[in-house]
Amino acid sequence: MISVTDEIYQSYIDIYGKSWVRPHLGASQLGLSCDRALWLGLHHAAIPLSSTNGRMLRLFQSGNVQEPRIIEDLKNIGVTILTIQSHFVEPDCPIISGSCDGIAIGFSEYPNEKVLLEFKTSNTKSFKSLKEKGIKIEKPIHYIQMNVYMHWAKLNIGLYVVVCKETDEIYTEWVKYDADVAVSALSRAKHIVNSNDIPPLFIGKHGSSENSKECMFCDYKGLCYHKNIPLVNCRTCLHCEYADGRFKCNLYPLQFDDTCIQTDCDYHVFNPYILPWDIVDIDVENEFIVWKSPYGGIYDSSILKSIDFEQVYQKEQADYQKLIQL
Ligand code: SF4
Ligand code: SF4
Repeated sequence: MISVTDEIYQSYIDIYGKSWVRPHLGASQLGLSCDRALWLGLHHAAIPLSSTNGRMLRLFQSGNVQEPRIIEDLKNIGVTILTIQSHFVEPDCPIISGSCDGIAIGFSEYPNEKVLLEFKTSNTKSFKSLKEKGIKIEKPIHYIQMNVYMHWAKLNIGLYVVVCKETDEIYTEWVKYDADVAVSALSRAKHIVNSNDIPPLFIGKHGSSENSKECMFCDYKGLCYHKNIPLVNCRTCLHCEYADGRFKCNLYPLQFDDTCIQTDCDYHVFNPYILPWDIVDIDVENEFIVWKSPYGGIYDSSILKSIDFEQVYQKEQADYQKLIQL
């Protein structure tokens, strides 16, 4: 029988498990070091591991629970909250967008200045390091995110508030707007959004490795290093294209569903940049591709539907395992 704990975790998966399927590229991601991870995320290529883990999803919600409390804390020190959850869109590339936690006025250090608010939670180890090194060194992703929000909101100063999850200690830091940081993050993001080609593997200090800091916990490690099959949805399809500020289908626009995790469209063909297998034949006119799997199997998209690739591939893997055990 399922325990109450497991039931609760399952409810988080049911409620929040699909929240990663965002149509947009969020400002909170722009500080990620790997262009390829941003591109694969935008193309909904794999299910993030955390979205199938109820405990992790609950942990993310714990961060949101802190937000109204911090707002109350600020009101209690005389600050006026002007907006909560202000939403912004990059004007010439609307697929890039984001929402800051709020905008406020009336801080004693900056009495007449409107201030951007960004709230986070942290574990004790990271909190200690943040206190020693500050946001720019310890949390560059948050630093870039705040600068992009300040750029959009035309604000010169932001307040970063972090709560330690174990002790409830609060850390606050003023973040001054740096136009270079915001503009270069946005121009990099636009380049990634507009690229039809997948960016290269991340190259760290010791080259490319699935054990590098960036790749170790990346949701796309299976695609980049283990030739896993991507999700079957419109954004992983060969017929999907980004143009004029949005993704669209060049073949069946009425069937296009930009937010589904798994499509039942019969015309899905994997984008060859996203399915990392060898291609043995391409028929451009009839729009089919013949792939060779890492185990040598032949997958012809004119015969086998994308949705069935995974099952055939699993059998191939199982047969291979049996063979090497003989
Ligand atoms: S596994 Fe590494 S190279 Fe691949 S997307 Fe993730 S960070 Fe980038
Ligand atoms: S062909 Fe089907 S799966 Fe592919 S983008 Fe169009 S609607 Fe989506």
